[in-house]
Amino acid sequence: MIEKVIMAEHAGFCFGVRRAVNAISDSLSNNHDNREVWTIGLPIHNPQEVARLEALGLKVAKDADEVPSGAKVLIRAHGESLSVMENLKSRNIEVIDMTCPFVKKAQDMAANLSLENYYVILLGDKNHPEIKGILGHVADNKNAEVVADESEAEKVANHPKIALISQTTQREERLAKVAGILTRKSSELHVCNTICKATHERQQAAKELVRSNNVDGVILIGGKESANTGKLRDIIDSEGVSVLWIEEPEELEANSQWLNDKNMVGIAAGASTPEWLIDKVINNIAAKKVVKGV
Ligand code: SF4
Repeated sequence: MIEKVIMAEHAGFCFGVRRAVNAISDSLSNNHDNREVWTIGLPIHNPQEVARLEALGLKVAKDADEVPSGAKVLIRAHGESLSVMENLKSRNIEVIDMTCPFVKKAQDMAANLSLENYYVILLGDKNHPEIKGILGHVADNKNAEVVADESEAEKVANHPKIALISQTTQREERLAKVAGILTRKSSELHVCNTICKATHERQQAAKELVRSNNVDGVILIGGKESANTGKLRDIIDSEGVSVLWIEEPEELEANSQWLNDKNMVGIAAGASTPEWLIDKVINNIAAKKVVKGV
């Protein structure tokens, strides 16, 4: 029986996601010119929030070509490649660019450093839209590659100049290790720490939650496709604390055995998890006391 629930100090929507989701909601609610409102790909890695936006009228395209001329497109926080932006603008599509400023910074670094003849290494998931967008800003795509981890970094060939740019949701420890490996591959290594503050705060808060509060387990709330939520799971796992990763409160019932074993649980949530969903989960846990962690 759970006696106490402790919330991580930082959990839920980050600045960039909140900004993009608010812009989408505003466009749908104040759509005076009656143009269709689209995003390319899911606006956020959270199925419940996507369902809410779709109910308001949002249309989700699988790629830029699916967006009809005359429509309105909101670029999600992950950003897009230069070629996608040019495609949209050439077809009389109104583009509202909600690329997170932290992602934009990584895109600009990729563009500028590749122009300065750096071979660009992106540390991240090559299938993630943020990484595809950053790659799409490199001046010459042939002068860049994506590495997922230390073992892939070991396989990078030597280059006179290397720029290392990180996916904004990477773990700091991994960026430091990959930077260490790449120092052996180049006489000039430029490391861009593009891990964003929101990611850092949520990762630190997850560590603090388990280290300072002696919790029996952590309920992690977030979309299963969310990269930053996955990193939080890895962090809590590596602290040796049991994690229950759920997307919505309905999953609690199926995990009643896990819950019954616990006295004090922590709550953590990814940067793409809306507050209304966190509140719903907490309301579904019959705990005597709910407090914010340190
Ligand atoms: S996690 Fe960071 S980089 Fe990504 S959208 Fe949020 S604030 Fe921006």
